Amino acid sequence: MATGETEEVHKESAHTGGQVDPEELKRGGVVKLQGKDLYSMWVKTNCCNLSSNQLRKLGEIADKYARGLLLFTTRQIPIVPFVRLSDVGKVKEELRKVELELDRCGPRVRNINVCPGEKVCQEAILDPISLAELLDNFFRESILHKIKIGVSGCETDCILSRVLNDISFVATMREQRRGFDTFVGGKLGTSPFVGEKVASCLSETECVNLVQNYFDFLRAEGLKGERSADLIRRLGLGRVKNELTKNLEREIGLKPVTCGTALSARKEGRVTARIRATCGEVTSSQLQEIADLADEFGEGIVHFAVRGSPEIPHVGEEKLERLREELGNVGLETIRGGLDNVQSCFGNYCTESLADPQTLLRRVENRAHEIDLGGLSVTISGSGCPNSCGIPQLSDIGFMGVVRPEVDGSTCNGCGLCVTACRECAISIQDGVARIDYDKCRSCGQCIAICPLTAILESKKGFAILVGGRGGKSTRLGQKVAEFLSEEEAFQIADSCFQLCKKEGCELSKLIDRIGLDRTKELILGEDTSKTRR
Ligand code: SF4
Ligand code: SF4
Ligand code: SF4
Repeated sequence: MATGETEEVHKESAHTGGQVDPEELKRGGVVKLQGKDLYSMWVKTNCCNLSSNQLRKLGEIADKYARGLLLFTTRQIPIVPFVRLSDVGKVKEELRKVELELDRCGPRVRNINVCPGEKVCQEAILDPISLAELLDNFFRESILHKIKIGVSGCETDCILSRVLNDISFVATMREQRRGFDTFVGGKLGTSPFVGEKVASCLSETECVNLVQNYFDFLRAEGLKGERSADLIRRLGLGRVKNELTKNLEREIGLKPVTCGTALSARKEGRVTARIRATCGEVTSSQLQEIADLADEFGEGIVHFAVRGSPEIPHVGEEKLERLREELGNVGLETIRGGLDNVQSCFGNYCTESLADPQTLLRRVENRAHEIDLGGLSVTISGSGCPNSCGIPQLSDIGFMGVVRPEVDGSTCNGCGLCVTACRECAISIQDGVARIDYDKCRSCGQCIAICPLTAILESKKGFAILVGGRGGKSTRLGQKVAEFLSEEEAFQIADSCFQLCKKEGCELSKLIDRIGLDRTKELILGEDTSKTRR
């Protein structure tokens, strides 16, 4: 009889007659890597927290079955990259030993995004963890498309939920009453959308009912592949709002659940140690150290933040210096204001990637430290393609891999595969040949990848730069100031951004508030605006 791991692989490939179906594996949290016969395994967190023992196990797994590397992601989960398919079953068995499972992918509710909550953060108006636990347990079934849900403890919305989530619950206080304001439609990707408010100050029961209404509405009228933003674009906000807020007070018999990594109540003099992990990358030995430090200085729990920094809550202020020394021994440091954790998507490892954001981001981060931005709270992030998994639109400076497609009319046979692949409806067949509407094109390269005749060429490729993005109460998506840049050109423009921030004494998002985007763009690019022309 086959061993456990071969059984797993057998199960994963049985339906394809022994062939591995990457899409099926992906739905189970196992994602193929670029150009290699290797996979990444996406691990579910408990309300975006893991215990020190679970972290140690992840470190062991990364050493034994992968390359000793882990990624902390904007999805607030860890990823173990470079696992061989034949080891997938063994890794799952190892995870089960510490009560971990792979994250839910495919058409269902993903890992619920949640901030650290009222036991950690003094700004919290309500406990987001309690609602996140309820939602996580309530909504596990399959639906038409992926659904992302986020819960924030206050309007600062540290998890950027209004933009990253289909449904975002943000705790608020209205006339002495606490509840969750609810936003629908958030998404990044090629057509970003900032969530629209559909309800105010809801109770936990009302929040659960609203999500149930969303499920019911999708089942009745949703289209395959349609996110909440698409639903709003197709049917209008008024209609979506009416459907989602119907009969919210109904009884549903909620039973409280606990995610198993509950912290004790917040105490004076306790702080959170935020650890810098550039591009969310942490080695297994660093992870082991973080787990040990969480035991020694905190309560044995580590939080996964949206910008990819591991966080140890409940550290006594008087112990912070000692903790920093210990971190320094494994090449880590804490974030002490100023430049936030520099976050990247899966980038270089991802099959969709058009550029290498990690290498650029490391150069840019070093430059930011050299320049010394003082106390400015600058955020920087990057993505390998316009899918925007690395949240480039939500940072002061964001990078995104882009490509400009160009049809070779002499090779195209008008088969129309590219028309179907283009999510922006930017391609049509005219006179038997594909034509691209560049006003609609979002430079994602899907048409290039799908064309069986290689009839769509890359006429330009490189990085786009977006500036001025931010989350929270005054959420704004970053605006593109240049595109199709080489790594060096992108680096030079980032340098200009830093010089400008330093001279003006404020972050780009605030500078845009003050002098407008056009003037900010002129100051960043100087006379050379050629890169902004398409
Ligand atoms: S943004 Fe693109 S390259 Fe990066 S992880 Fe997402 S799909 Fe991959
Ligand atoms: S997929 Fe290729 S061959 Fe087919 S219509 Fe598009 S460009 Fe032409
Ligand atoms: S035309 Fe091609 S590159 Fe442009 S949005 Fe459509 S699929 Fe993406």
